Amino acid sequence: RVEDVPLSQTFRGNITDFVRSGGFADDDSKPCCIDAKTGQQLTQKQVWDYADKFRALLHHDNNLCPFNANTTDPALGDVMITLVPNHLFITSLHFAALDLGATVSPGSAGYTVAELVNQINLTGASLIVYTRPVFKVVREALAQIVVPVKIVEFEGLIERAEFVQSHKIQSTKKVTLSPEESYSRIAYLGMSSGTSGGLPKAVRLSHFNMASSAELSKRAAPSIAGSEQIAGAIIPVNHVYGLAKFLIAMPKSGATTVFHSKFDLIEILEAQQKYKVNMYALVPPIIVVLAKHPAVEKYIPSLREHLRYVSSGAAPLGANVIEACNKRLAGTASGENEFGGLKIVQGYGLTETSPVVSTFDPNDPERHARSCGKLVPNTQARIVSEDGVDQPAYELKDLSQLEAELKKGNLPTGELWLRGPQIMDGYHKNDEANAESFVDATDYTSNMPFYMKRWFRTGDVALVDTLGRYMIVDRTKEMIKSMSKQVAPAELEDILLGHPQVADAAVIGVQQVEKGTEAPRAFVVLRDPKFDAVEIKKWMDAQVPKYKQLHGGVVVLDAVPKNASGKILRRLLRQRENDVVLGL
Ligand code: AMP
Repeated sequence: RVEDVPLSQTFRGNITDFVRSGGFADDDSKPCCIDAKTGQQLTQKQVWDYADKFRALLHHDNNLCPFNANTTDPALGDVMITLVPNHLFITSLHFAALDLGATVSPGSAGYTVAELVNQINLTGASLIVYTRPVFKVVREALAQIVVPVKIVEFEGLIERAEFVQSHKIQSTKKVTLSPEESYSRIAYLGMSSGTSGGLPKAVRLSHFNMASSAELSKRAAPSIAGSEQIAGAIIPVNHVYGLAKFLIAMPKSGATTVFHSKFDLIEILEAQQKYKVNMYALVPPIIVVLAKHPAVEKYIPSLREHLRYVSSGAAPLGANVIEACNKRLAGTASGENEFGGLKIVQGYGLTETSPVVSTFDPNDPERHARSCGKLVPNTQARIVSEDGVDQPAYELKDLSQLEAELKKGNLPTGELWLRGPQIMDGYHKNDEANAESFVDATDYTSNMPFYMKRWFRTGDVALVDTLGRYMIVDRTKEMIKSMSKQVAPAELEDILLGHPQVADAAVIGVQQVEKGTEAPRAFVVLRDPKFDAVEIKKWMDAQVPKYKQLHGGVVVLDAVPKNASGKILRRLLRQRENDVVLGL
């Protein structure tokens, strides 16, 4: 897509100033955040008031600073890890740290000790804000860390906020960034196993990256960017998809977010009815639940009357799931009905792209179910074949033939390469991963914006049609998307190799279409061939979160296929069709 929005119009400054520039920061007339469980609400003015108080507390009591004492990297503030689920006060917590010039690294309240230790080590965090139930994990993780890390209980922080004196707030400066600083200063360190595979890495997202993603997705889909939006935040804001939508785009446009701290279908449906929720940003497995779960039935009148948009991202969404969801929630296969209809719109993005790369406006007549959208403005893409040749756009005539043609390998597919203002600064302290993920642009000239200098290799295989509609058809990278969350096979292989009976192991993702997800499947070589491999699955599942469990079962092999340099040939594992799969 050509440069159709001049760069100068894309906001540059602190990401919090970008949110304030929407003009709603003083709005005291309607809720900005609602807690679905308790019904507690905050107007946007209250959200910013709490942000001020948290900022003062984090700075005065916990020494959170705009410049990081643990590193000489001028791009980083002190790093604050958040282990907090979706919460009424989560927006204020992020705004507080970002206004201070600190860097936020969102983590999950469901982490294991090993996952938290990894994130602390990768990011060099000096502060963890955690929710009370996670305390034990935090304590055990800190016992394994040599550098000092401060911890703050989020519930306690909220209580203390009631008593902050105004002089403390006034003496805690907000950091304002110059345009150049907004390019380089890192707002977020997100977690991703990345294009080159291997263990999770910290993704450096600048203030400019985050603002660009929000601004460009708004321009690409203006009909879902108004203040009348009332959205349900079911997906976690610790992933950049939820974060960008609910903590940045929604408050910027003066819209209302209903936060769900966990996936509780009845709570979600009750809240939809009570608050007249009119849009959701979801992931495919949740859309499958909405399309199929019997509990939804009772709430259909409210869903039909109020729910207008569902955006889906993070993983592929099948056309039949869209149709089933339309039929159920809107009453027709197309989604049209007498109330204004339901539009299910797909988008595509990565943590590394802050996250939005492509989407459709819901009213775009060229929208089709197999496509994850058109590129957002200011973003350019190439589709590059394995032998380095740029692939042409494909003239899509018959959607029903597409999958068959893809299987035959007849279509111009290739790895998707991108450049644009939302592409990450890079993987944090990981030169090797950066060298594998970026390619210098040979057409770059100094009058082009800096982000045109290099192409980012997504590790996704795509196809584009002549109308600019992108379709993700495969992945070259190892990553598995289980329940829409990333699983790095290397991490599971590492754990499996710790089992005394496992001589070698490999993990791949297998499609579970009916659940709208991939599932990790382990291939193991046993030391004692008579050992029951189901025991390995049970052992493994007990030490990882649900989405990393071996829902795809276990297969026993004589040897894991590898190339001459010892790299696992996952392609050969994916092609196996007649395995006896244990533990399903
Ligand atoms: P994450 O960084 O966790 O957001 O994961 C990014 C990856 O999710 C991408 O590289 C894709 O493999 C996958 N993904 C995201 N959106 C889609 C989509 N609409 N269709 C297919 N795969 C997707």
